[in-house]
Amino acid sequence: MREVDLPRVYLVAKTMLVSEGLSAYLKDIGNPDWQSDSSVSDGENLIEAAGRMCYRSWQPWDPEKPEASNPNVSQVRRGNDRYLANVLKSGHGSVLEHVNATFICRNVSRVFTHELVRHRAGMAYSQESLRYVRLDNLPVWIPDSAGTNPKAEKKIREVIDFLENTQKELADIFGIDDMDDFTTKKTLTSMFRRLAPIGIATTIMVTGNLRAWRHIISMRTSLHAEEEIRLVGNQIAKICKKEFPNVFQDMFRDDETGAWEFDHSKV
Ligand SMILES: Cc1cc2nc3c(=O)[nH]c(=O)nc-3n(C[C@H](O)[C@H](O)[C@H](O)COP(=O)(O)OP(=O)(O)OC[C@H]3O[C@@H](n4cnc5c(N)ncnc54)[C@H](O)[C@@H]3O)c2cc1C
Repeated sequence: MREVDLPRVYLVAKTMLVSEGLSAYLKDIGNPDWQSDSSVSDGENLIEAAGRMCYRSWQPWDPEKPEASNPNVSQVRRGNDRYLANVLKSGHGSVLEHVNATFICRNVSRVFTHELVRHRAGMAYSQESLRYVRLDNLPVWIPDSAGTNPKAEKKIREVIDFLENTQKELADIFGIDDMDDFTTKKTLTSMFRRLAPIGIATTIMVTGNLRAWRHIISMRTSLHAEEEIRLVGNQIAKICKKEFPNVFQDMFRDDETGAWEFDHSKV
């Protein structure tokens, strides 16, 4: 058994603004009195632009700029934080769907990945293949709930060692190391994995839009959620709060329970 560290989350990608394109569009609609704010993230500028485009509310009405303003609008909210605060308050969360954040979650179990992939709306996944990748050792994270009980921890280690030896014995029985045919190897590898524990540490890449991440963070850091997904959800929440402070301005951690809560739970 190879004991691994705590599950870890890496932010590996996020939506980027193509400033030249946005500037060209703004020029073509008459150069409204609005510009993206370099002190906020590209994603947050993009969300604001999406909202202002919907309502033609780049600036107050100006008959000289009919494509950039709207006779119904005599004043507009200024500032990305205020603008996004209003989007959240009014529940117009579809504009949040334009911005993605991609994470690699490492040393996570199949318990975790089964739970994560239940989130479908706005999500994309790529998961380490245990049909291709043969298990010759079993990496496992021992949850805190077990690690505090020496007898339980000992039992876990014994079972994992047994299952690890089973993987090796099956590989010997079939002589897989001497085989050249990859299709047969893949078939056998997939058969062996049936005897691997779902606690095995693996890796998943996950992309979600910010509307989906708000929902997932709320559901999966709650006290009712599972230990491991809470740990990972907590890391994702911290990264989102840092990277997109205006989109997550209404999200706060309850230090007693560890749950991240939102003033506007459904946007
Ligand atoms: C504490 C906890 C315990 C759980 N226990 C169980 C369990 O015992 N058994 C079990 O099977 N699952 C369980 N789940 C998983 C849960 O039922 C959901 O499948 C999972 O959390 C995905 O969330 P979601 O349905 O909101 O989907 P998401 O894909 O995250 O969707 C986000 C939102 O989009 C909307 N949406 C998405 N898809 C549709 C659709 N097809 N039609 C209409 N609206 C849609 C809904 O408003 C949904 O809330 C549990 C989850 C938690 C957090």
